[in-house]
Amino acid sequence: MQFCPDCGSMMHADGEQMVCSSCGYTEGKDEELAADYVSTQEQDESDVIETEEGANFEGKPKAEAICPECENDQAWYTIKQTGSADEPPTRFFKCTECGARWREYA
Ligand SMILES: [Zn+2]
Ligand SMILES: [Zn+2]
Repeated sequence: MQFCPDCGSMMHADGEQMVCSSCGYTEGKDEELAADYVSTQEQDESDVIETEEGANFEGKPKAEAICPECENDQAWYTIKQTGSADEPPTRFFKCTECGARWREYA
């Protein structure tokens, strides 16, 4: 139930608005206002990781790791905390030979 802020009469819904039956005062419905605040900022976490995975390997330390593609035994690696802080970090590798990328869960 909603009452007119001007005259105190009961208001009724009329399409997208609330309308006062007595004086004709109109007001947008609360639900309509709230809909404007729906967040569009949620990102798919896996997309973010895939992008960084490719970009940041040059100049990283190398480690002995066997490439699943060409069996080269050298790979750049980087460590990222991909989950919450109490989960172990993930190591990402990139083969120095063929550029293949893979990840290893610690
Ligand atoms: Zn009114
Ligand atoms: Zn390789």
